[in-house]
Amino acid sequence: MCGIFGIVYSEKSPRPLGAVLKRALERLEYRGYDSAGVAVAEGGLTVRKDVGKVAEVVARHGVENLRGAVGIAHTRWATHGKPSQANAHPHVDCRGVLAVVHNGIIENYAELREELSKRGHIFKSETDTEVFAHLVEEFKKGGLDTFSAFRKAVGAIRGAYAIVMVDAETPGVIYFARNLSPLIIGVGDGFNVVASDIPTVLDHTKRVIAVRDGEYGYITWDRVVIELDGVLQNPLERIEEIPWSAEMATKGGYPHFMLKEIYEQPESLASTVSGLEWRLLEKVAEMLLSSRNVYVTAAGSSYHAGLVFTHLLPRVKITSTPVISSEYATYEELFDRGDVAVAISQSGETIDTIKAVRAMRERGVKVIAVTNVVCSTLSRESDVTIYTRAGPEIGVAATKTFTTQVATLAAVYVSILKTLGNNVENYERSLKTLPNAVRKAIENTAGSAKALAKRMDRPSAYYLGRGAAVPVAMEGALKLKEVAYVHAEAYPAGESKHGPIALVDEGFPTVFTFSDPSTREKTLNNVAEMKARGAYTIGVVPAKSDIAKKLDWAIEVPDVDEVVAPVVYITPLQLLAYFTAVERGRDPDKPRNLAKTVTVE
Ligand code: GLU
Repeated sequence: MCGIFGIVYSEKSPRPLGAVLKRALERLEYRGYDSAGVAVAEGGLTVRKDVGKVAEVVARHGVENLRGAVGIAHTRWATHGKPSQANAHPHVDCRGVLAVVHNGIIENYAELREELSKRGHIFKSETDTEVFAHLVEEFKKGGLDTFSAFRKAVGAIRGAYAIVMVDAETPGVIYFARNLSPLIIGVGDGFNVVASDIPTVLDHTKRVIAVRDGEYGYITWDRVVIELDGVLQNPLERIEEIPWSAEMATKGGYPHFMLKEIYEQPESLASTVSGLEWRLLEKVAEMLLSSRNVYVTAAGSSYHAGLVFTHLLPRVKITSTPVISSEYATYEELFDRGDVAVAISQSGETIDTIKAVRAMRERGVKVIAVTNVVCSTLSRESDVTIYTRAGPEIGVAATKTFTTQVATLAAVYVSILKTLGNNVENYERSLKTLPNAVRKAIENTAGSAKALAKRMDRPSAYYLGRGAAVPVAMEGALKLKEVAYVHAEAYPAGESKHGPIALVDEGFPTVFTFSDPSTREKTLNNVAEMKARGAYTIGVVPAKSDIAKKLDWAIEVPDVDEVVAPVVYITPLQLLAYFTAVERGRDPDKPRNLAKTVTVE
């Protein structure tokens, strides 16, 4: 959730530190936009922080003019204490020499705060984070050097954290620690960086080291020191090259990342499909076919991608249980050796999914990860990883990462069919031509979605579908909620008669998805029922069919194979959500209360 960045330059390198920190804040804004702040440790400590958007904070506090060799930055998604200047990170100790930024939750902060207050520490914020600065101060006071004090403070806190700290009394060093929240180190020439995500590091270097749970250490401009339980690690052998470019994480002329990423889908699908490792998929197919129980676990849009998959599995006689990651405990007693789980997370850092995976593996379940980020925690902690190749996604609402997940899982399904001896040529062709179908869907429907957005002026909407179209409806509704703040509910269309229809009156927007050919006829009955009650019926329908005529507003998409149809049918609904947000004056890249990569439970 929160975004963290730190950079340390050699004394000799040119270092436009203010501009670099500003850039990092802009990059990280998608991870939290309650407040932003920076600290520079050189000739004393300078802290600039405030509530508001990054652009405002940067301008108000002259962040660009900061000079020095070492700086840290933070964008906040508040968990403890409202968004305010005092609660903004970095947090400092009583003497104002240590500055700390943090992503996550320090669970035992209340007791630590009480204890430290008794010892005379004065707290200036309501955050859990601030205790860390005072803890290190306290341990330093006891005679420890900064790193020993930092190590001891890490040992004293419980919970999820990525922490980055500077100490004006040890200039040229950035301390860091990680447990559950993502943190990576970028290895540069004449500098090193530490950050919550890859796009932020990419401005500086492509060579990264993922910090692992329980690890802590420090960077100087030419050293990376990592320890685990007091034992020195060898991080240099863990350096990985990131296959993304810095340009991939910019808006590239689009008004918003969300729109850019919607339009990028043909490319991201093309690279995902062409990058499929069929050998690996064969192995995955065998794992699934020979498993006792199959669980599909994920959160948010990834969960919807998982549901698309669970709708396909019965066709190959595989029973599966979809598990919302944060609800895994309900099924915990069932987890056993012989079971297989598919865990989906674009960032590979979603804490709920990581926790579900850990609980599963503890009981012997084999885990297949589907993720977009190499060197992510999920990929490291799973038995097998299938990578989607969507490139960096900055828009908070998932778009291209959802469709690449669905395409990847469709390929897994095709691989199962193949393993079972079926001829899958048609399906393979559908996967190959999918990027083109999506391009057509986007080009042909953007105008219609934009025009329809003007009519989405009611406070609520229904999204309905049947069979494999249900998860598409769920994802469409989620997009509208997330970025346009319109209450949108998805139901299996048949279920809508059992209650939801009571809300329908003249003009009530009801969006139908017709991605599942086997349920189209029945869905049309539900259209008629809704129409009879005055609903304004909207549908994403196959081109050149009669379905369009039966709706008040039809959006036609290429009629593709049912295995890949969810990918094509969701695109106009992504566009509809985007344009409705813009129509209502919302910023689709910064939906309120949300942040990309949910790293708190
Ligand atoms: N708990 C910290 C705060 O509220 C960090 C929150 C987060 O990482 O989302 O400031």
